[in-house]
Amino acid sequence: MKVSVRGHLIDLLAFKGLVGRRKKRIARAPASAIPVHPVNELAQQIHPAELKLLITQVTDETRTTRSFRLAPAPGSAALPCFRAGQYLSIKAEVDGVGITRPYSISSAPYQAVGPDGFYEITLKQTRDGFLTGHAWDHWQAGAVLTSSGPAGTFYHEPLRDAAKIVGLAGGSGVTPFRATAREIVDGDLDAELLLLYGCSAEDDIPFYHELQELEARAQGRFRMVNVLSCEITALEGCEQGFITAEIIRKYADVANASFFVCGPQAMYDFVRGELAQLGLPPRRIRREAYGEIKAIAAYPGFPAEVVGQTFGARVRIGETDVEIPAQATETVLVALERAGLCPPSQCRSGECGVCRSLLVSGDVFVVPDGDGRRAADRALGYIHPCSSYPLSDLEIEVPRGAK
Ligand SMILES: Cc1cc2nc3c(=O)[nH]c(=O)nc-3n(C[C@H](O)[C@H](O)[C@H](O)COP(=O)(O)OP(=O)(O)OC[C@H]3O[C@@H](n4cnc5c(N)ncnc54)[C@H](O)[C@@H]3O)c2cc1C
Repeated sequence: MKVSVRGHLIDLLAFKGLVGRRKKRIARAPASAIPVHPVNELAQQIHPAELKLLITQVTDETRTTRSFRLAPAPGSAALPCFRAGQYLSIKAEVDGVGITRPYSISSAPYQAVGPDGFYEITLKQTRDGFLTGHAWDHWQAGAVLTSSGPAGTFYHEPLRDAAKIVGLAGGSGVTPFRATAREIVDGDLDAELLLLYGCSAEDDIPFYHELQELEARAQGRFRMVNVLSCEITALEGCEQGFITAEIIRKYADVANASFFVCGPQAMYDFVRGELAQLGLPPRRIRREAYGEIKAIAAYPGFPAEVVGQTFGARVRIGETDVEIPAQATETVLVALERAGLCPPSQCRSGECGVCRSLLVSGDVFVVPDGDGRRAADRALGYIHPCSSYPLSDLEIEVPRGAK
């Protein structure tokens, strides 16, 4: 085979005098700072790394659920746009520990536009909750929160998803669907939503009246069915039990819909089996990240022998090199936060890669459902500390955080 090399001399000559030319250009350059390119400026406005948000209103939706309305803090730019279903990662300091927690934006994109634009997030109070306890005590009108820009991929994308959405939600998983329903009825989203909402108490359904009112105005483009696992005494038009394949078939146009699932881990485990009975292609099922696994010791494949153990982790973060304790049943990210290291993090589900770190030595259990690493990262020994649990002493290199 004949291989002809053309232009190698031209390439070599191009390097000749390169240093001299560069020096001349530096000497000619003005002393003023390089201006930011307008495209970069626009990109920073659309995707800001951090937002300062003023709490303007606090609303108790139910006895366990509270909404916080957020506007740009004084001196901040207008709120960036988002798509119904995206979340904010709130950064907070609780008991001296810097943490993040993701919360779906429960208001609609159209409500964020204009001088009075706002976001809302809606928190469910959790037993032994770390941030939720703090939020109930300290987040009042006038307080300023720090958050990421809108993030996440749990939104309707017409190029990929069917125009008919079936939302399967449980607990606080109703929040992205409230945003979606509002955007369909009063905003710009050209889709239909059937929401099957699983709840364990008749008197603890967030947005019950609001979603009924939306449904009444939706002309068939939004419908909600509550599926209650408790005894039903007062509400009408509900289903009893869990969101089964039978209930889904009863209400949904299964063959022509995209399914969006959002709720606690136990609900995912149940709904996965029910959806499997419907024989849907995988692209028709979208699932929101659900955060750290609470009962990791019971997770299939988690080694029982490490439960109760605490390992040592040697951590390099910026110029700091420290040894910290890391419990087997808590993520590496929580160990870092407990030690006051505050690395960057966002989704806490292994998905976004913001906490991506190099595992220099040691073993971790990576939650298979939360293994959002690229193949190359997996091969080169990177981990996402938010979905990795220590199985031995570790040595890791962690990106420097905000603190
Ligand atoms: C994409 C996404 C969207 C979400 N949207 C919503 C939503 O709209 N509404 C909602 O209510 N929830 C939502 N969540 C869940 C939410 O992010 C929180 O997990 C939930 O509010 C519970 O937070 P918590 O801190 O109160 O409780 P937990 O996260 O359960 O906090 C307890 C945990 O904190 C850790 N911890 C305890 N002490 C310390 C310490 N000293 N230092 C460091 N760590 C410690 C421990 O690991 C313990 O297990 C969403 C989650 C995801 C992933």
